[in-house]
Amino acid sequence: MCRHLGWLGADVTVSSLVLDPPCGLRVQSYAPRRQKHGLLNADGWGVGFFDGASGGPRRWRSQAPLWGDVSFDSVAPALRSRCVVAAVRSATVGMPIDASATAPFTDGRWLLSHNGVVDRAVLPATSRAESICDSALLAAAIFDRGLDALGETITEIAAADPAARLNILAADGARLLATTWGDTLSILRRPDGVVLASEPYDNDSGWEDVPDRHLVEVTATGVALTPLDRSEGYR
Ligand code: GLN
Repeated sequence: MCRHLGWLGADVTVSSLVLDPPCGLRVQSYAPRRQKHGLLNADGWGVGFFDGASGGPRRWRSQAPLWGDVSFDSVAPALRSRCVVAAVRSATVGMPIDASATAPFTDGRWLLSHNGVVDRAVLPATSRAESICDSALLAAAIFDRGLDALGETITEIAAADPAARLNILAADGARLLATTWGDTLSILRRPDGVVLASEPYDNDSGWEDVPDRHLVEVTATGVALTPLDRSEGYR
């Protein structure tokens, strides 16, 4: 299961989010602390961010491990954004290992990452997927349905594939959306913005764990958590 990170807030460098933290995505590529499935995330990485000039998403993805990427290490301190989605990948058995199968995926408006696994047979047919990887097909299904229906889409796919793990992280430059369904997610509310991450990138006492089966929405005005599996509350 991969690890991902999202940022919404002040204009910061990509390196300050991804490379510099003591337990950030670079370290999580070889030594994640909370990963339940898979030992390390060596099957590629991707960083997407919204560019102030164009307003649109830009991506840099690779099928190589993040820990050895000296070019990205050199350039990341010069990349700045108010909204970032980044991921390191541990490929599910049978899935292709190449940049097109690596998050974040995009529809030209949203950036989207998936931690988990889903049976491709339960996903609707689509022609817009970037790869035959389960996460790319899932991203296409979510884009087709619209991100405003993210919670419903995840609950329906989980009903069709009860073994699925469906932690999603998506951003459009003004909003971060995330789901927890089978894996970890933490929030850090900083004075200059909000971080959503599969696991804390440092030992700051401000990190809060998001309960499983929740939808998280981060906007300029705050953070909202909504339970996805209401039936659980009535058991
Ligand atoms: N199933 C996805 C893939 O193969 C994501 C894997 C993961 O979360 N480790 O890339």
